Amino acid sequence: MKVDVRQTLENANQAFKNWKKTSVDLRITYLEKVREKLLSNKEDYAKRMTEDMHKPIKQAVAEVEKCSKLLTYYIENGKNILEGRTIKTDWSETYTVHDPLGVILGVMPWNFPFWQVFRFAVPTILAGNTIVLKHASNVPKSATALEECFAIEGYKQVYYKIEIPGKDVEKVIESPIIKGVSLTGSEPAGSAVAKKAGELIKPVVLELGGNNAFIILEDADLEKIIPVAVNARFQNTGQSCIAAKRFLVHNTIKDTFVEKFVTEVTKLKKGDLLDYDTEIGLMAREDLAIELEKMMKESIKMGAKIVCGGEREGSFFEPTVLTNVNTAMSVFKEETFGPLAAVVGFDSFEEAVELSNNSHFGLGVAIFGKNTEYIKSKVHEFDEGAVYINEMVISDPRVPFGGNKFSGIGREMAEEGLLSFVNKKSVVVK
Ligand code: NDP
Repeated sequence: MKVDVRQTLENANQAFKNWKKTSVDLRITYLEKVREKLLSNKEDYAKRMTEDMHKPIKQAVAEVEKCSKLLTYYIENGKNILEGRTIKTDWSETYTVHDPLGVILGVMPWNFPFWQVFRFAVPTILAGNTIVLKHASNVPKSATALEECFAIEGYKQVYYKIEIPGKDVEKVIESPIIKGVSLTGSEPAGSAVAKKAGELIKPVVLELGGNNAFIILEDADLEKIIPVAVNARFQNTGQSCIAAKRFLVHNTIKDTFVEKFVTEVTKLKKGDLLDYDTEIGLMAREDLAIELEKMMKESIKMGAKIVCGGEREGSFFEPTVLTNVNTAMSVFKEETFGPLAAVVGFDSFEEAVELSNNSHFGLGVAIFGKNTEYIKSKVHEFDEGAVYINEMVISDPRVPFGGNKFSGIGREMAEEGLLSFVNKKSVVVK
């Protein structure tokens, strides 16, 4: 490990010795100041994200605002969640307390450079831990902005950034200073981190990929669904783990859906990323666009048809809709992390469930139809970490978020997120 990284770990460990003794009230006041700083630098932070990974500015501003909502959620609810509980036994007192673990490593991706970091950092720090953050190598401006945002005058530093390539993360996990690790990113990165953390018995939270289905039943109201479907697939230029990637549509309405969907998809505005009207950005890196193009071309060879889009120029990938997709194609089997929608027809609810579960991921599914009670009765049949009915899958600080199968381990946000890196200590008094 490089000397400066080792020194940063030492500093974070020293800071923990002080931070763990602070009251939850003081930590909440600190988070209020982080929120103030975040909002007063909103445009600047948003611009840095756009420059790093080519997100349209309007979406970058919305991302900063969403981070402030997460702060508000934990500012208002954190104290209650951290309180622990009393348990009825035949001893005189039995209760639990939640103590911090120490220095926690965060390994974060480029797709939501602020949001992914905030949803890890805020609850982890509020629980009394300090953090060391290794951000994705392609978002250096965001990484610097984040460290600035969490540095509050009058408070000792609790958020530390390190600059290392992904392959060096294992060495950091090996440090006895690191007491837990949270990674959001790809499966190979998640697997490498889980292997090392497992070997050393360190707790781990993994938020990996998703291949979410967006299921449209026969009686669904297409007029209402189309804008939701467009947003669910194309926001953030399709680079989201919870994006709808496979559109499963009842065969009786599939052609009408495709026609209406494509009409709206072709209206998505590309252009200057700093223009507030721009809706589709460039992909974060050209290699990611090339990878997506490869998946598309392979699937076309197997019989998929382009209804709109299909062109790539550098890291710009035209918003694309494919039909005639089947389960053997890579656009169905693998995660399409960009602006490409795959449409598949089905004839019965059972078939829709089977198609949805036919993925090694299990992050979320959205189902649209008039009979909510019927859909609710089928929730247990889905392998996912989340089922959204008549709503696209979205992350919300009040709702636990995480995946099943190869989509990850553990949950972020809500109560679960705040208790991910704590020692749930039981206390018994005779
Ligand atoms: P990575 O998983 O490689 O990057 C995510 C983070 O993990 C980065 O900080 C990266 O560092 C780090 N990392 C990379 N390799 C390792 C490793 N062996 N051990 C520990 N950390 C590592 O994602 P990519 O940028 O390569 O994107 C590839 C695919 O990953 C996407 O197409 C998408 O499918 C998926 N992905 C999923 C995300 C999600 O939200 N679940 C977010 C981003 C990507 P560095 O940048 O230095 O390599």
